Amino acid sequence: AAKREGRGRALMFEPRLDRQHEHRLAMEAALLRALREGLLHVHYQPQFDARTGTLRGAEALVRWDDPRLGAISPAEFIPLAEEMGVISDVALLVLRQAVALLRDPAIPRLSVNLSVMQLRRDGFLDQALSVLAEAGVPPARIEFEVTEGVLVDDTVAVKHRLDGLRAAGFALALDDFGTGFSALAYLRLFRFDRLKIDRSFIRDLGQEAEAAAVVSSVINLGHGLGLEVVAEGVEAPAQLAELRRLGCDLVQGYLTGPPMPPGALKLLAARAREAGMRQDHALGDPA
Ligand code: C2E
Ligand code: MG
Ligand code: MG
Ligand code: MG
Repeated sequence: AAKREGRGRALMFEPRLDRQHEHRLAMEAALLRALREGLLHVHYQPQFDARTGTLRGAEALVRWDDPRLGAISPAEFIPLAEEMGVISDVALLVLRQAVALLRDPAIPRLSVNLSVMQLRRDGFLDQALSVLAEAGVPPARIEFEVTEGVLVDDTVAVKHRLDGLRAAGFALALDDFGTGFSALAYLRLFRFDRLKIDRSFIRDLGQEAEAAAVVSSVINLGHGLGLEVVAEGVEAPAQLAELRRLGCDLVQGYLTGPPMPPGALKLLAARAREAGMRQDHALGDPA
């Protein structure tokens, strides 16, 4: 009876499993095709100094607009790329495009997200350095972002690779801070330049006193460790005002600028630079 029941269940679920499996195979094929045909591209979300409004850099966010499937979120295809073993291809594509954009001297720095697979293996540092050397861009203008999850996994090896990136001159940021486990212990072990407060903590800022208490203590923690603190997901003027009051260093979000194509970031950087020069002039003007 049990066997019959089991078979009955298997039969009941088979069509759905089949469909899931088919979908998965189709996505795998589509991702390989997208990589081959150059359908992946990169958008850039600006980061500003919270106090002065100066453009400090931008985060590179990979995009996949497929002619057949439409826009597919990186939250869906990055894990797929990891499982398929093609994450390095995605990462190098993003890094190459970011480095090409850094030929524009008006763009101070670009941040690139790294996934755990790249830090489990050797080789990424050398590949990254050769991409930069070809373009004549110094490593200090690239920042790599890693999430807390990356640190927990195979800590010794990951620390070795991150230390290598830092020794080579790259900047490092801890992404989505507050969403993982054991963050405090890892902050002592690893050396970062910036800490990015996850947008879930920014959401209720300016509305709930508790939210301000949490964000305030993260900012103080970051500063105590000598790090700059970045707020992500800033959507409302009240959030920005609160972040400034609490002494947050950098802001990133739909309010100050959505992810945009490279041409739009270049324009923004050019305009920011002009405004800065006018300001310098005004400051230096004795009259
Ligand atoms: P993330 O690194 O935390 O990137 C920030 C995400 O927040 C982006 O989503 C961005 O579009 C979104 N965002 C920015 N401002 C706001 C805002 O004001 N409000 C809200 N609600 N959201 C905002 P996106 O582009 O969908 O990327 C999702 C995640 O995919 C990224 O999260 C990152 O973890 C990953 N990812 C993106 N590009 C890459 C990549 O090149 N390599 C790797 N390994 N991961 C990537
Ligand atoms: Mg990020
Ligand atoms: Mg983030
Ligand atoms: Mg995030």
